[in-house]
Formats: sequence, structure tokens, C-alpha cells
Amino acid sequence: MKKCDTLLRGTVITMNPGRAAYLDGYVAIEGGRIVAVGQGKDCDYEAEDTLGGDGHIVIPGLVNVHGHLVQGCIRSMAEGTTFEERLFGFYYPMTGACDEERSYASALPPVLDLVRRGVTTTADDHFTHIHKRSIDGVLRAVRDSGMRCRMARLILSDPDNAPDGFRESLDVGLAETERVKAEWENDFTSVTASTIGITYCKPDEFKEIWQWTVDNDRQFDIHAPSVLDTKYLSERRGWEGGSFEWMDHEGMLGPNVIAAHAQNLRPGEAKLISDRGAHIALVPDMEQVLGLVDFDSRQFLDAGITCGIGLDGPVVAYGHDLWTALRAFLTAQRMGDQHRKQMGNSREQWTGYETLFGSAELALELATIGGARALNMEDKIGSLEVGKDADIVLIDRRGETQMSPPAALIPSLVYGNGPSPDAVKRVMVRGKTVVENGEHVSLSRHDAVAASDELQSTLLEEVGAQKFVRMRSPYTWVDG
Ligand SMILES: [Zn+2]
Repeated sequence: MKKCDTLLRGTVITMNPGRAAYLDGYVAIEGGRIVAVGQGKDCDYEAEDTLGGDGHIVIPGLVNVHGHLVQGCIRSMAEGTTFEERLFGFYYPMTGACDEERSYASALPPVLDLVRRGVTTTADDHFTHIHKRSIDGVLRAVRDSGMRCRMARLILSDPDNAPDGFRESLDVGLAETERVKAEWENDFTSVTASTIGITYCKPDEFKEIWQWTVDNDRQFDIHAPSVLDTKYLSERRGWEGGSFEWMDHEGMLGPNVIAAHAQNLRPGEAKLISDRGAHIALVPDMEQVLGLVDFDSRQFLDAGITCGIGLDGPVVAYGHDLWTALRAFLTAQRMGDQHRKQMGNSREQWTGYETLFGSAELALELATIGGARALNMEDKIGSLEVGKDADIVLIDRRGETQMSPPAALIPSLVYGNGPSPDAVKRVMVRGKTVVENGEHVSLSRHDAVAASDELQSTLLEEVGAQKFVRMRSPYTWVDG
């Protein structure tokens, strides 16, 4: 028998090109990398650290392709507010008041939500730079969790669309991006530059930021289309087409672009994205919460476009549980398909012969190998294959009534919003355990809650945002 550091046993969902799933499988890890994977009876490895066995599931670590972790301090406060109330009333003011320490405290609860449920890689878009080291606080929280991070530092420069204090000159923004890159980049963290959407920078500056990402061989991460795009494009730039069409016209739509949301596209834009090789960060859970009735990811998947699944910011992405986004990916698409059918006044009736779009297996695929591809990290992570880093989640389903009996294991896992926290036996990043039996190995969630609670009450007071708390609540809240 050969020796290895760690041996995992259970039902192994590999996400390799053939999508092999071994009902009685094993994964051998040595030096943080996967050295063997296959059917249990063929295993010729042994390890002192042998985990799992009957009733366990081994999957690749999940990848969250879109987020704004600094929003932890305003979690769920979108409820009952209008877009403008939240954006200018507490979103910008409260996140903007976060220096490095506060940003750390703000980001830590959503960071723990992610990693404790099996996310091993997260993308983040940070754009509150009143305190230049706010982004460092978020990066530190992710680093302390052990997750990988693809951080985009977003530069806001347009005087019409970014509030006072949030704007930076391009020189300052790019110099700070260089600083963060130099201080933080390593095997687990990468840093790139971008902006929120095409309305948040002057066109020439937008292009310079994009050029920086090309020159530095990094992704250009952009919300597209964002809320004001159509109005802004036609009024300010005389452009009547869509956001992707504009980016393409300007020569910026290419394989290094990853676009978040990508809903409400113009006819032909999905094909354009496909032709140019850009990637999409779907955020189906948030789209559903906000009532988007015609969510469509199928237009991308059918065209072979690389898609991952993300959560977006905790102000709306309640709970910060990527499993809910896997389920939402399916429900949102199916409701969208039905909506489009009805809007087309189709008289098609349900006949009982059709199957619904997609599957729980497809959703899990998008949250693992799909997410890895979407972030250009598929050479290292996203599947359980020899040579890849051991980013792995081990689930003990022996007490999981919602996953019993096991014939439809993956549908139970995905539609049931994932495993219970304490059934997450291990979360590993490059073979190192970061979560054990549902608890983070070094971060206290009780301390994280206490610090985040205190931070929120300080910030509400400091920026005068108390009036947005429980806004339009139908309850009578009694205090004191
Ligand atoms: Zn976002």
C-alpha cells in the first residue's frame, strides 16, 4: 500500500470531464494535492488520517463567483426599502464608514456563512474606498477563513453616478489596486481592477481600467447590464444598443470579461457573449428575491458560455448560503421559462411528457467546476482529479433525514438547500482542514456575531441610518 496524508471515503462526486461519481469511492491527498481518486475497491493508498466511509459524500469545494462581503454590516436591510433609500440611505454611508477593522468585522459573518457550508473559493467586488484599507479588512477576513479569494477592486469616477467621497481619480484607483495586489496576492488570493458597471466611470477611464486587466492578465469583472445603463448610454453616449453591444463596439468584450447578472439582454447579446468568450456570474437567488420574473441562464448554457453561480451582497442575498442559489438557479429558470411561454400567449398546455429544464446535478456542476472555469481557476480547483488542489467538502449524511433514502442523493442535496451545518464534517482548502464538524477551526462564530452586532449599532448611530431599520415593518416593535 502507498502512503498519503489524508484519505477520504464515501460517495465521490468528481466533476471530472466524464462526471464520474463513485458510489463507494475514495480520494487520496498528499501535500495538499489529489494523488488518486476512484472506486474504493481499487484504492491502494492508506493514511493515518482516514475520513468518511459509509454514508458520506465527497464533493469539490463550492465556488461563489460574485459578492460584496463588506455589506455584512447591512445584512438583509434591503427589506422594506426602495433602491434609492437603501443605496444612499445606508448602503453607501454605512459601508463607506468602514475602515480596515470595521470591514473585517463586517465581512466575517458572511465569510463564515460561506465556508461553513462548503464554499472554498469566493469572488468579491469591493468599491467602498473612503478608507483605502477597507478592502484589506475584507481580504483579511477571507484569508483568516482559509478560503481562496478573487478580489476585484472597483474604481468609481463618474460624478453623476458615484456619490461624493466614493469617487477616485483613475491614477489613485489603479495605484491602490497595485498596492493591494502587491500586499495580498499569493497562491490563494488574486487581485484585479474593475468598476461597478459601465455607468460608473467616464468612457475613456472605463477603457483604461479594462486595459489594465488585459495588461495584467486578469479578469474584468463588471455588473452588466446595471440599472442605469440604457438611460445613460443613450443620453450620454448616444448609444441605443445594449451594454454588451457597447462593450463589444468599444473592443472590450472578450474572454477576460466576467459579467454579473447578465439579465434583460437585447436579442443577439447572448450570442455576442458566446462569440467573444466572455463568462457569466449568475446570481439567481438575488434575482428571485427581487422578483425578476424572466431570469434566463439557459440562453448562455445552450450557447456553451461559461457560467458560475454567485450570491451577490448580503444586503439582499439573505443568509449567504450558496446552496440556496443552486436551488434558485433551477426554480428561477423554470419560472422564467413559464413566464416567457405565457407572455408569448402560447396555448401550449402541460402534457405530462415534458421534463423541466436542468437538474440538481447541473446546478452542482455550475457551483463547482463551472465556478472554477468562470474564474479561470479550473487548472487548480473545481473537480476531484489527480493533480488538482484538494479543495474538498466531506458530508456525513447518516443523520441527515432530508437526504434519506439515498436514491436521489443530489436532488435531495440541492433542492433541500444543502447539508445541515454540523453534517459538514470537513471543508478543506488545498488539503488543509478549515471547517470540522460544521465549525471553523480557528474563527469563533460567537465572537464574529458579537463584533458585527456592535459594529452595526455603532454605524447606524454614526451615519444616522436608524430610520431604515425595520422600515415599513408590519409589526409593532417594542423597545426599552
Ligand atoms: Zn453585485
